[in-house]
Amino acid sequence: MSPSFDVAVIGAGPAGSTTARILAGKGFKTVMVERRSTIGVPIHCGELLPTLPELLDIFPRSKRLQHLGNVPKELVTNKTSRTQLISPQGHAVEFKFGTNIIDRTKFDQYLAHQAADAGCETYLQSTVVNRSTSNQIEFKSRSGPDSLDAKVVVGADGPSSIIARTLGNSYSSPERELSPSINFIMKNVECDENVVQMFFGRNIAPGGYTWIIPKGDSMANVGFGLRRCISTPGTSLLTYLKHFIAKNKIAAPQLKRAKVVSRVGAIIPVAGPVPITTSENALLIGDAAGHVMASNGGGIPTALSGGSIAGHVIAAHLENQNPLSTYDRIWKYEFGKELDTALSVLRIADSVMTSDPLTDVCMRIAGKQFLEPLIRCRLPAPVDFVSKTFVRTFNAIVN
Ligand SMILES: Cc1cc2nc3c(=O)[nH]c(=O)nc-3n(C[C@H](O)[C@H](O)[C@H](O)COP(=O)(O)OP(=O)(O)OC[C@H]3O[C@@H](n4cnc5c(N)ncnc54)[C@H](O)[C@@H]3O)c2cc1C
Repeated sequence: MSPSFDVAVIGAGPAGSTTARILAGKGFKTVMVERRSTIGVPIHCGELLPTLPELLDIFPRSKRLQHLGNVPKELVTNKTSRTQLISPQGHAVEFKFGTNIIDRTKFDQYLAHQAADAGCETYLQSTVVNRSTSNQIEFKSRSGPDSLDAKVVVGADGPSSIIARTLGNSYSSPERELSPSINFIMKNVECDENVVQMFFGRNIAPGGYTWIIPKGDSMANVGFGLRRCISTPGTSLLTYLKHFIAKNKIAAPQLKRAKVVSRVGAIIPVAGPVPITTSENALLIGDAAGHVMASNGGGIPTALSGGSIAGHVIAAHLENQNPLSTYDRIWKYEFGKELDTALSVLRIADSVMTSDPLTDVCMRIAGKQFLEPLIRCRLPAPVDFVSKTFVRTFNAIVN
């Protein structure tokens, strides 16, 4: 007979471990099912987490980030205080933006240990292949096919979530596009370790951007994400990144002695939240829910927030039969607006930045005043004013 749990969390990333910690801590019989053999390995991340004040500025309604965004010092490898957005011709717009560059492997392991310390069981090397509507989970482990049952299932299984599909979400439409990305960890990088650099351009990273994120000690994450609907057909991600490293006039001098220590390819879901994030007995968090800032690909803060909201909503569901749909209301309140704005920014960028010369002109004209708010998931004040005035006027005419 399959073992039974109150809650089965599929995926032991930041989202899953956060939910599992809360539920196990409240005494619910909780299991995390994770396909990797070592949590957090390999790293699929640029490892950038905005500092606590920046997080509270970006997500002003998410008070829980006060606690969740406070990363222990030993997990931080570097701190940066400025960000540069660099146009195809090399024009840099710079502004203050505080970040912690975290050791993502240690970070994921730290969160998973917290869940284990709270009493959560973890099955490693266990790949979930199906969830039935009654919450029977089938998975493949080292010893073969296996299964378990749970009152509530949490899909924390990342951008290609199996659990999201069992809730009725589809990934086949172009609107639900996923951004393929690669990241090199490089050593001997000669960059300013206080500055994060983001490079834009159709020939650099079509529909995305390329990053140099200093990890400290002359190490950096150098990577990029693109969107297939915009990129040149047949050009591989590696071709783009190698060309950037060798030829970009700002980046190449910083990377001329650099060596690749490791490389990973992964997916960033940049199409906004998936349409269905809850059912009667299951819900989705983190990348599985599409909770990523589409304009910059950052998803750690919303994985932590969504994971925490899910933990508390599931506890209330198991204790008092409160509906899981409460989760939708709370995440939409705490960070839904920011995710919507980030998606709007991406759509505007897609339509404006159709060529490198145009991108260059747009970025020069926009300058710090327009570009800085976009990174913070906000529309620049004039655009915000015009769009709000338009909506008000439209409503006044219609009504
Ligand atoms: C190249 C790259 C760079 C990025 N850089 C940043 C950054 O600098 N800052 C930032 O905030 N965000 C960044 N992101 C996004 C960020 O990594 C994610 O948003 C974040 O990891 C989401 O956490 P999660 O817990 O939802 O999912 P994940 O961290 O993806 O965890 C999902 C877990 O589920 C497991 N899993 C998947 N399928 C199954 C299955 N069928 N059965 C069992 N287990 C399964 C996986 O092995 C994984 O451990 C980046 C993403 C990529 C790809």
